[in-house]
Amino acid sequence: MKEDQLPGLSLIDAHVHLNAIEPIQSAISNARSAGVKRIVAVGMDLPSNIKTLELAKQFPDIVCPAVGYHPWSIIEDEVEATLLFIDQHLGDCVALGEVGLDYKVKIKKPIQYKVFSKVLELAQQHQKPVIVHSRYSYERTHAMVSAAGIPNAVFHWYSGPPGVLDKIIADGYFISATPALAYSKQHQAAIKKTPLSQILIETDAPVEYQGKVSEPASLVDTLKALGSLKNRSVAEIALITTENSEKFYKI
Ligand SMILES: [Zn+2]
Repeated sequence: MKEDQLPGLSLIDAHVHLNAIEPIQSAISNARSAGVKRIVAVGMDLPSNIKTLELAKQFPDIVCPAVGYHPWSIIEDEVEATLLFIDQHLGDCVALGEVGLDYKVKIKKPIQYKVFSKVLELAQQHQKPVIVHSRYSYERTHAMVSAAGIPNAVFHWYSGPPGVLDKIIADGYFISATPALAYSKQHQAAIKKTPLSQILIETDAPVEYQGKVSEPASLVDTLKALGSLKNRSVAEIALITTENSEKFYKI
């Protein structure tokens, strides 16, 4: 079956940096043609949070906004204003994100911990699910989410050690699959181990995968990779992951 003939798909892209995608109109219409009915758009800092909320107003039938503070984007002088903005707007969003820890960036660990624990408090206060970035910080990131008593979290693009994944699964949290599932051994191992009932699908667009810039329509690549890894049909995978996202984000 050709890619453009996948029948009647109804998909949710669980993690997109929509603010960074140009031109937006064609990305949205390509997404619709590919069967993507909802896009969860995440923010990383003040400007991207503002832009994400604008896009949700512009495309209310398809864009579901999240506001967050990415560990890559932390600037000491902006912490207070960014946290205040999140507190003021999280109630209008489907989730908190993208937030987390990253041990590969130069941002100092103490300020990453401080920001992450504050945003986790906000998620608790507003009772929102959390979209978590945990690159090279898997153990600590999971421990902080769990200790904060967060009931709903997705460890996005999880490619970490199996021991931490066991705890993520036992806590009832989700992990999400990206188009990297087609080639990344660590990502494949994690997705293979995780039950389908705890997996969401996403693109993290406009991230490049093997030299190809992604967009929400690239979700079909994630879907196919997940289908072949789990030995299930694309239609089954679509149904299960869409239902997972609907429950997780309450959309
Ligand atoms: Zn992301």
